[in-house]
Amino acid sequence: MRFVVTGAAGFLGSHLTDRLLAEGHTVLGVDNLLTGRRENLSHLEDDPRFRLLERDVSRHIEIEGELDGIFHLASPASPVDYLRFPIQTLKAGALGTHNTLGLAKARGARLLLASTSEVYGDPLVHPQPESYWGNVNPIGPRGVYDEAKRFAEAITMAYRRAHGVDTRIVRIFNTYGPRMRPDDGRVVSNFVVQALRGQPLTIYGDGSQSRSFCYVSDLVEGIWRLFNAELHEPVNLGNPGEYTIRELAELVVAATGSASPLEARPLPTDDPKVRRPDISLASAELGWTPRIPLEVGLRRTVAYFHRLQALGRLETMPD
Ligand code: NAD
Ligand code: UDP
Repeated sequence: MRFVVTGAAGFLGSHLTDRLLAEGHTVLGVDNLLTGRRENLSHLEDDPRFRLLERDVSRHIEIEGELDGIFHLASPASPVDYLRFPIQTLKAGALGTHNTLGLAKARGARLLLASTSEVYGDPLVHPQPESYWGNVNPIGPRGVYDEAKRFAEAITMAYRRAHGVDTRIVRIFNTYGPRMRPDDGRVVSNFVVQALRGQPLTIYGDGSQSRSFCYVSDLVEGIWRLFNAELHEPVNLGNPGEYTIRELAELVVAATGSASPLEARPLPTDDPKVRRPDISLASAELGWTPRIPLEVGLRRTVAYFHRLQALGRLETMPD
């Protein structure tokens, strides 16, 4: 089959592209390189089944030839990135989702939307089942991402109901692994890079807030299963193992053998206090549960950043 992956040069998009190619399919990546990197796809340079189109999904998209499915991942995803690109984030979620749905409708292609646990905001229900409607501040700094994704879910359901487009929605919880940018700003990449550079690990607030961390290969497996299942309402995918940020910092220090201390920094506005997916739906309907424990995933992630460090790539970054 022939697929479009928007956001293919990003962290998740590049791993998903690898998986689709490994399944024997052809992939057209669409990415404007706002937060992604060509080097995430450099190993595919000579693969005739892959091509990257440098395009902004917020503008009309033309794709030639057969099209069986679209994976719409294009959007800034790290809080640091979406606070830096607030308008682009709103446009990727709103106009980008509208454009990719239009493409799916015109071509009779299936569309999977990458949504997020951020639709639950700072949740008042814990863990979060798909039935929870969330607690989002629409006008706070994170609103640009949360509301863009909530709109993206709404328009995806509308295209399904009004136009019969064949859609899937995945609500992705914090996912980590190789190919995150060293300066991406998310907690796992920040802590690993800081530990490898021997710098203090920056704990925002008192570090008692929790997150649940899913290794990238587990997430990609879940996305592929969802794409192939008849589930049209949103599905949570994430690892239910829940850690405080302080616990994560200690695990990263152990995984790197670093002597870095932990250092307190201000807590960002509207930072969710807890987050953990209820994955009963994915387990029952997709037979999916994450396999990679955090310690193992962290070791693989550390190995990736260690390779970058050996190439001198971590030392040139600003602190
Ligand atoms: P990423 O920043 O590494 O990748 C996003 C990609 O989208 C980048 O390559 C970027 O250049 C591209 N992009 C952004 N705006 C674009 C536009 N207008 N047109 C074309 N390309 C554009 O982030 P990621 O972690 O790989 O996230 C991928 C998707 O998964 C996002 O939609 C994100 O919201 C969602 N998600 C990720 C996580 C996670 O933990 N990684 C959690 C929840 C949701
Ligand atoms: N965080 C932190 N130090 C960092 C980066 C993030 O303590 O250097 C915290 C952040 O405040 C949040 C959690 O780690 O509570 C996860 O942050 P991330 O940016 O990875 O994603 P989020 O889950 O907030 O979208």
